Amino acid sequence: MEYASNILETIGNTPLVKINRITQGLPCLVLAKYETFNPGNSVKDRMALKMVEDAEARGVLRPGGTIVEGTSGNTGMGLALVAIIKGYHMICVISDKQSKEKMDILRAMGCQVHVCPTDVAPDDPRSYYSTARRLASEIPGAWYVNQYDNPANTQAHFESTGPEIWEQTDGKVTHFVVGVGTGGTISGVGRYLKSKNPAIKVWGVDTYGSVFKKYHETGIFDENEIYPYLTEGIGEDILPANVDFGIIDGFTKVTDRDAALYTRRLAREEGMFLGNSAGAAIKGVLQLAPHFGPDDVVVVLFHDHGSRYVGKIFNDDWMRAQGFLEGESQSK
Ligand code: PMP
Repeated sequence: MEYASNILETIGNTPLVKINRITQGLPCLVLAKYETFNPGNSVKDRMALKMVEDAEARGVLRPGGTIVEGTSGNTGMGLALVAIIKGYHMICVISDKQSKEKMDILRAMGCQVHVCPTDVAPDDPRSYYSTARRLASEIPGAWYVNQYDNPANTQAHFESTGPEIWEQTDGKVTHFVVGVGTGGTISGVGRYLKSKNPAIKVWGVDTYGSVFKKYHETGIFDENEIYPYLTEGIGEDILPANVDFGIIDGFTKVTDRDAALYTRRLAREEGMFLGNSAGAAIKGVLQLAPHFGPDDVVVVLFHDHGSRYVGKIFNDDWMRAQGFLEGESQSK
């Protein structure tokens, strides 16, 4: 018999899948690292497990303790799986711009969910960063995960995602393209790939309304870059310690509209039912096309599953209300 002894053992070893239609016209091979095959349907299962194991090893999370995290949903799902199998309580603090599906899923997995306003400064006591910190300090036996600054986040990708991409491409990968939120994925994968071949280029996909691209290019943290945006999971109004700007070769910014339209194209043209940041990532690949040649192997990572966006990106009324469906055909 061949079976996993619990759900956590099924994390990782996700497939690499060729993109065939959307990338027509590009000279290179484009392969998607397809992270929805993880049991929580996102890449975040990898770092959730690693961060908990690291906290256990450091003695900051003890049996029966409470895990507290400010999470846009996917990390919460990953942590919920780990909490269930390992016997911890789980509290997720989430901002109100996140999809209702994500909140419902977290509750379905036994998490306590606190919803906080999106449009307040990170140091405002009402923000989800501040609320998570406060709850963790008030509740006995609670541990605040802090995926933004927790080095085990990046380490998970250095130990698993990066080596998988290297092995699956037989070391032929030349470019890695990925959306950046906490920075764990880009930094861990990027660091590993560059340790194997320093010529590999690492590209971050950012949103309009986020500080990353400008900071990378100028070293300036420009508050004028910060404004509300719709794309979920990528872009930040802070500089997380997990973003290793030194291993990133460049950023490209994708609009909310393009991220949404390309998420829909992935579903309809590639049969890939994915989340909002996957649309941003594949549009980022197209925007970066001038950097790619015929011998290149471009790996783009798709973070999460489309089911969490049925009320938004995959809902025509929502799309129309944002003005995203006008002239849709022209944007293809
Ligand atoms: N896409 C989605 C849907 C996410 O939830 C996240 C995590 N915030 C990211 C992309 C970015 O990944 P990372 O935090 O590793 O930079």
